[in-house]
Amino acid sequence: KIAVFWFRRDLRLHDNAGLYYALRSGYPVVPLFIFDKNILDDLENKKDSRVTFIYQALESLREELKENGSDILVHYGFPTEIWRKLSDEYDIAEVYTNTDYEPYATERDREVFKIVKKKKTAFKSCKDQVIFEKKEILTGQNSPYTVFTPYSRSWKEKVNDFYLSSYPTKKYFRHFLKWKGAAMPSLKEMGSEKTEIGFPSDKVSSALLNHYHDQRDFPAMEATSHIGIHLRFGTVSIRELARKAKEHSDTFLNELIWRDFYQQILWNFPHVGTGKAFRSAYDHIKWRYDTDDFKKWCEGKTGYPLVDAGMRQLNETGFMHNRVRMVTASFLAKHLLIDWRWGEAYFAEKLLDYDLAANNGGWQWAAGSGTDAAPYFRIFNPAAQAERFDPKGEYIKKWVPEIGTDKYPEPIVDHKIARERCLRVYKEALDQK
Ligand code: FAD
Repeated sequence: KIAVFWFRRDLRLHDNAGLYYALRSGYPVVPLFIFDKNILDDLENKKDSRVTFIYQALESLREELKENGSDILVHYGFPTEIWRKLSDEYDIAEVYTNTDYEPYATERDREVFKIVKKKKTAFKSCKDQVIFEKKEILTGQNSPYTVFTPYSRSWKEKVNDFYLSSYPTKKYFRHFLKWKGAAMPSLKEMGSEKTEIGFPSDKVSSALLNHYHDQRDFPAMEATSHIGIHLRFGTVSIRELARKAKEHSDTFLNELIWRDFYQQILWNFPHVGTGKAFRSAYDHIKWRYDTDDFKKWCEGKTGYPLVDAGMRQLNETGFMHNRVRMVTASFLAKHLLIDWRWGEAYFAEKLLDYDLAANNGGWQWAAGSGTDAAPYFRIFNPAAQAERFDPKGEYIKKWVPEIGTDKYPEPIVDHKIARERCLRVYKEALDQK
């Protein structure tokens, strides 16, 4: 009899909750990863850097496991089919995994649970990805929070060493099944291609955190951690990071709490993950589905320098600074009055740190339809944002070198006219409720 630990968005051996419990189960543990055909087939771009990132993370895991006489079983296919086969081939006493809160993952796990149950295999899902999950933080009325500030207050009141301490997996590495391993499917076999993009480091320095509060809002300063992709795929542990944040920067800790906040929103209000506005009245807005304007926004050719700089940074690097994400998102929804779901999908395709809960939360915030949203009549002025957060125009010049020449396009829309149009159309929709 064996136990299987199924890796998903937790690609590390250290401080991994589900892996820890698997290693302590009393059964030899076989680590497993499945390249999910449902997900890979859906990718627009066959040369997706995130697939390369996962592939490289698996290669490092393999090396570490080999040092311990073990290896990881890597499959490519539909998870339910693969689990049916594994369930027939092996005598699996228990399956361990870490909970993924996204609707697709929840449904997939439910199906896999049904399959393994037929062989009386237990399926155990652990909290690993967040500090507090699901309904762990509730209001006095026992309902989920929908406003960030009181949520973060409760979060901070509840957190203690118990929630932040690491799972000492290393002590139990001897419980990995000793085996010689099997070849990993190549990227090519999976219809994918390796990309050459450089990935950010998985370290966050104390120096960065000490300056985080003062510098994080200025995109030219590169003063944020770029740790998003590592949190997305679990190559860092949220507990380690939160401990470090607590020591050095309350502002940075707050950002990590935003991450938990949006995960619990997705869990408790699953309609947000299915293309619906958090506040349903906003589903009445008459969006412009203008493909030309949308294309200009995507390409960074709106004639609004901060918006264009952000979109070009995204297109070239897979990253965009948070302040600029807010400005570009608001510009699409409010200035261009284009359905925020188009923008959400574009970010989902391009962002290395793409995460359904955070991306949807950010987009709904910008469109005004989400939790914690500023009133809809507060509309970012992209020029004023640029003056305030990129006063010397360094960030803009880096990404829009032709600025100030006749090669740079005229503004796609006049700020004042766009503002008035937005107010009118939003008001019409909200008056209907
Ligand atoms: P840092 O400032 O160094 O923050 C550290 C970590 O805290 C981030 O990596 C992230 O995990 C978390 N975090 C910070 N801000 C937020 C936030 N507002 N909501 C949730 N978590 C946060 N973040 C994503 O991780 N994935 C997304 O797909 C995503 N899409 C966004 C879309 C829009 C329209 C907006 C306005 C924001 C979005 N964010 C998203 C939140 C935020 O912009 C990024 O987390 C941040 O810019 C990533 O850079 P960093 O790692 O240097 O962040």
